[in-house]
Amino acid sequence: MTLKPNSLEELWMPFTANKHFKQEPRLFVAAKGVYLKNHRGETLIDGCSGLYCIPAGHGRREIADAVHKQLLELDYSPPFQFGHPLQFEVARRIAALAPGDLDYVFFANSGSEAVDSAMKIALQYHRAKGQPQRTRFVCREKAYHGVNFGGTSLSGMVRNRETFGPLLAGISHMRHTRPPEHKFVMGQADTGADLADDLQRNVDLYGADTIAAVFIEPIAGSIGILPPPKGYLQKIRETCDKHGILMIYDEVITGFGRLGENFACQTFGVNPDMMTLAKAITNGVIPMGAVVANDKVYRTITDAGPAKGIELMHGYTWSGNPAACAASLAALEIYKSEDLFARAKKMTPYFLEQIASLREFGIVTDTRGIGLLGAVDFEPADGKPGLRGYEMLQDLFNNGLLARITYDTLILAPQFVCEQTHIDEIFDKTRAAIRRTMNRPQLRAVS
Ligand code: PLP
Repeated sequence: MTLKPNSLEELWMPFTANKHFKQEPRLFVAAKGVYLKNHRGETLIDGCSGLYCIPAGHGRREIADAVHKQLLELDYSPPFQFGHPLQFEVARRIAALAPGDLDYVFFANSGSEAVDSAMKIALQYHRAKGQPQRTRFVCREKAYHGVNFGGTSLSGMVRNRETFGPLLAGISHMRHTRPPEHKFVMGQADTGADLADDLQRNVDLYGADTIAAVFIEPIAGSIGILPPPKGYLQKIRETCDKHGILMIYDEVITGFGRLGENFACQTFGVNPDMMTLAKAITNGVIPMGAVVANDKVYRTITDAGPAKGIELMHGYTWSGNPAACAASLAALEIYKSEDLFARAKKMTPYFLEQIASLREFGIVTDTRGIGLLGAVDFEPADGKPGLRGYEMLQDLFNNGLLARITYDTLILAPQFVCEQTHIDEIFDKTRAAIRRTMNRPQLRAVS
């Protein structure tokens, strides 16, 4: 089977090497379970749950049927000043999964929108408390918080920021949590909790009463899986509590079972005041994002609003749209009925052992992982950072594995429905690709 569009020219692809892609396209045309098919009819195993978003596997009929039924019953319901029952049910289910008093769910359509929504909610929270001068956000180097202007400003991945001007003012970055001494440490490092002192340094520098929130991914995902050192999140929490700063987790990747619990905050035992979600919220099949806020944040804002007036001037045409809600309910039902988060937890030690074993290759300069998230750094080739990674991406596509590549880092995030044989297949293909990159004549000089 060969399926190729008539023209590749007109589409401007996101985060893609457009010119080169159009010379050597990589298209998917079908997917079922843990496998995808490319435009040449070849099968690839999904080593990254799509883009960290399809833990229950591709082509789930329960979700497709639920969306189909919903579109015929109620295809659209305007979200401003009106509602439909499914939105309330998804919110109730997410609130039940979330710990503590993280009980209020605001819907968006992506992780980026969720992040920018959480920023606005944080600003309004402080205004409602009579502290409108709290406008600063503290975040981290190497973070990824999506691509809208708020999220880009929070992000700490240099290439995602550098071409877009001054971005938002009043944002400062703490150090990331992977110092050189953590090389090859899998899971949470024993040292490094003191990196959280950077928040206190921001307090000392700018004044606590200027800081609205600290924004962190519990595990920095897109840069290549940086788990927090032991005690780090606790320290951040303590500093936030001491100074009235909101703590916001970006759980767009870690939410819905990636670490074996519902959310990473439960794995680490440190609850935020808000968290952002997307991706697996619908098993990745319909765009949807959410902010989950605790009681304090929701009540402060709504109580301060007028009795019959809008309290938060923010929302999207498709906030909580019926088809996304139907997909989400069906996905949450699958996660529960198949006990998928527990399955993820059970597979984790084997998966992480495999990640750690890649250290045997001379070009591997670090391995990291936690839950069903693992990353391997390679020596750059030809003194050109990113070249080896890009070549591996193409090579893996041609040799049956979908993995995520960021610069010279390979990231794996298998689906929770994977059996051990699938994990073995993913690592057999990864090892074969590493051998090929080590043997390529044009790369051999540097390896
Ligand atoms: N936040 C985090 C932690 C993410 O990993 C991502 C995407 O990978 C986003 C936000 C942005 O999500 P989206 O691509 O749905 O806008």
